[in-house]
Amino acid sequence: MKFLKIILLILTLIFIFSCQNSQQDSTYYMLQKHVRYLASDRLSGRFPLTKGDFLARNYIDSIYKNLDLSDITKNHFQQEFDFLQDIKPRSKFEIRIKNQMIYLKRKKDFTIFLKSGDVKVSNTKALLVGYGDNIYLRRISRYFKDKLIIGYFFPPKTVDKKLRKEYHWRNLIKLAEFYGAKGILFVAPEDKFERLKSIEENHPYSQQIKRYKIPLLTISRKTLKRILNFNQLNSDSLEQIIKEQNGHFFRELTLTSFNLSISLKFIYKKAANIIGLLKPTGLDERDIILIGAHYDHLLPKKKKGIQDSIRNGADDNASGVALLLELARAFAKTPERKFYILFACFGAEESGLIGSTYFVKNPIVDLRRIRFMINLDMVGRMRKNTVYIRCNPPNSKIQDQLKKIKSPGFAVLFNKIDALTDAIPFFKQGIQTLWISTGFHEDQHQVTDESDKINFEGMVEIHHYIYRLVNSKLFF
Ligand SMILES: [Zn+2]
Repeated sequence: MKFLKIILLILTLIFIFSCQNSQQDSTYYMLQKHVRYLASDRLSGRFPLTKGDFLARNYIDSIYKNLDLSDITKNHFQQEFDFLQDIKPRSKFEIRIKNQMIYLKRKKDFTIFLKSGDVKVSNTKALLVGYGDNIYLRRISRYFKDKLIIGYFFPPKTVDKKLRKEYHWRNLIKLAEFYGAKGILFVAPEDKFERLKSIEENHPYSQQIKRYKIPLLTISRKTLKRILNFNQLNSDSLEQIIKEQNGHFFRELTLTSFNLSISLKFIYKKAANIIGLLKPTGLDERDIILIGAHYDHLLPKKKKGIQDSIRNGADDNASGVALLLELARAFAKTPERKFYILFACFGAEESGLIGSTYFVKNPIVDLRRIRFMINLDMVGRMRKNTVYIRCNPPNSKIQDQLKKIKSPGFAVLFNKIDALTDAIPFFKQGIQTLWISTGFHEDQHQVTDESDKINFEGMVEIHHYIYRLVNSKLFF
């Protein structure tokens, strides 16, 4: 009988041991599966509103559904927010000299500055200014009223560096608005004009455009030359004079008047945060732990002659999402949970923390219930057995507690990393945030951030660490 008992005990031990092992194996396998899919060329970088973005959203949705997380968005786990997809400009620009009307062409003679207001201006005279410092511009500002100001976007390169620093187009806009100018035509040299034209067309990182009230255009130097010719002025000798006066210059152009109408149509579509909630096992619990990771990344790199243009974003941040999903799986299986765990895959982080900012401004849970926010951003490149945790606000008590959590595979370094990440909007709301990361590297935001460079063993270690951290009750 005793012999049988021993056999039974050994069998049980083998069973427990193999279960634990297969658990580990499956975490490893699943992390790999998530990262490989999210960072595959098929998803093409997961930039908001692209096909890859929607594939990523569906993937996360389906896993939340499988794990039976609660959908507090009531919209397939998606909290939607506006994302600027396109800007459609419309414009009309005419110069009148005596009885003649000259039409200027957008993209050839001028471009629209995306901060421009939507305005119509007719029969307006222009005032040419140089690139003087703020004090000078203020001094001549009484001539601004009802004029179209023609000023420089950048002072010419030949001008003294110190003088160049004293002038800024932003100051000119402020003064022009304040003193009742009708608009500004910025003069740009040809190469800069081409660059500004491409910004007008592609508006790559302009999600939060602050628009001014007056119309703002950029004209090429060629266009300026024409305008000056119409006023019987020679542009070369005039620029020489401006230069000799250190940019301190103004002259009214009396022989021409301008008609101008601008409208910029901003087209927004819905991007999304993907949010699932895991409820506590007891009934009295109120506290929430939020685990967040952004799932978006960047558009392919536009450069001629490179074969692989896709920025896969395996570490940034397919790794964080994979870890979040496997933590959700692990926590969904725990028999006892003392708190709510909110899983949030944020959208449009790379475009300016748009998803996470929207979340805190339009909360679907009471933010005061969030005990802490764990942000997983770039967790797939563990090197030298080191993991970084940024504790914001810094809190030595919490750090001491974090040090007590077993992490056999790595050492934790505190507050050594700093960058824009989704923890920031939460931290600004007064929520304790912990940003966990394996740190920066040269492949970040490059086409070389690929799945085969991910340290999956390291990710399994971090998975166990966070699992222990959340279960440690150190925060409760
Ligand atoms: Zn990131």
